[in-house]
Amino acid sequence: MMNVAIIGAAGRMGTRLIHAVCETKGLTLSTAVERDGHPQLGMDAGLIAGAGELGVPLTSDLDAAVAAADVLIDFTFPEVTLNNLAVCARHGKMLVSGSTGFTPEQKHQVEEFAKTIPVVLAPNMSIGVNACFKLLKEAARILGDDFDVEVVELHHNRKKDSPSGTAVRMGEVVAEVLGRDYNQVANYHREGMCGERTHAEIGMQTVRGGDIVGEHTVYFIGMGERIEISHRAMSRDMFARGAARACVWLQGQPPGLYDMQDVLGLS
Ligand code: NAD
Repeated sequence: MMNVAIIGAAGRMGTRLIHAVCETKGLTLSTAVERDGHPQLGMDAGLIAGAGELGVPLTSDLDAAVAAADVLIDFTFPEVTLNNLAVCARHGKMLVSGSTGFTPEQKHQVEEFAKTIPVVLAPNMSIGVNACFKLLKEAARILGDDFDVEVVELHHNRKKDSPSGTAVRMGEVVAEVLGRDYNQVANYHREGMCGERTHAEIGMQTVRGGDIVGEHTVYFIGMGERIEISHRAMSRDMFARGAARACVWLQGQPPGLYDMQDVLGLS
C-alpha cells in the first residue's frame, strides 16, 4: 500500500482526488492538507469530499503530511507547488502535481527539484487529452506549414490562469513539430488595427464562464478546408483518476521530471 497525501484537499480537484485515491487499488489516503486558516481545517476530509467518513482530518501541517506519505498529490498553484516540492525534496518523497500556470523560471525550479526526487507534472492528467497531444503531433506533421494554427480553450469562471496549461502544451506540441519557438510565435491578444495574421503565429484564445470543466480545440485552417481536434471534459474525475494512476506508476521510478505521456506509455 502507498500512503498518499493530497495537498489542496478541499479544492475542486482536491475533493475529486479523495474519491480517486480511495477507489484506486494500492493507494490509501494518509493525510489531507489545506492552507493555513482554511475554514474546514479539523473536519473529516472524506465528509468534505462526500466520500463518507475516512478518519482523516483536514490539516495545514505540511511537514507532518510529507513525512507520513510515500507520495504527494498537489493540485494547487505554482508558488504553493514549489514550496511543496522543497518539502518533498527535504524528505525524499515523490510528488504528482497537476498545478498549472508556471512561468518558464518556475518550470526551471521544478526541473531542479526533480533532479533529486521523482516528479510527475502534467497540465492535464486525462487520457483523452494526452491522446490529443499525440494526434496533434501527427496532424502538424502531415499539414506542415500550409495551415494556420489557432488554439481556443473554454473554462469555468473561477479559473485563475489563462490560457490554460493544457492549451499552452497543445501550442507547444504543434510549434515543436513545425520547428517554431512557441514563446516567439504564440499570439495571445488581437485588438484594433493589429495587422494581418503572420503565417508562423499560433493564436491562443480564452473563453471563461459558468461551470465549464474544460474544453480545448486546435484549429488547423487551410485554404478551403479546416481540421479541428477537440477535447471536452465532462467532469473532473478523469483528471483525478489520472493523478492516482501516476502515483502507482511512480513507484520504483528514479528521480526525474515525468509527465502523463510517460505514465501512459505514450512518449
Ligand atoms: P481550487 O481553487 O478549487 O483548489 C485549490 C485548493 O488549494 C484550494 O482549496 C486552496 O485552499 C488550496 N491551497 C491554496 N494554497 C494552499 C497551500 N499553501 N497549502 C495547501 N492548500 C492550498 O482550484 P482547482 O480548480 O482544484 O485547481 C487547482 C489547480 O489544478 C489549478 O492550477 C488548476 O489549473 C489545476 N488543474 C489541473 C488539472 C490537470 O489535469 N492537471 C485539472 C484541473 C485543474
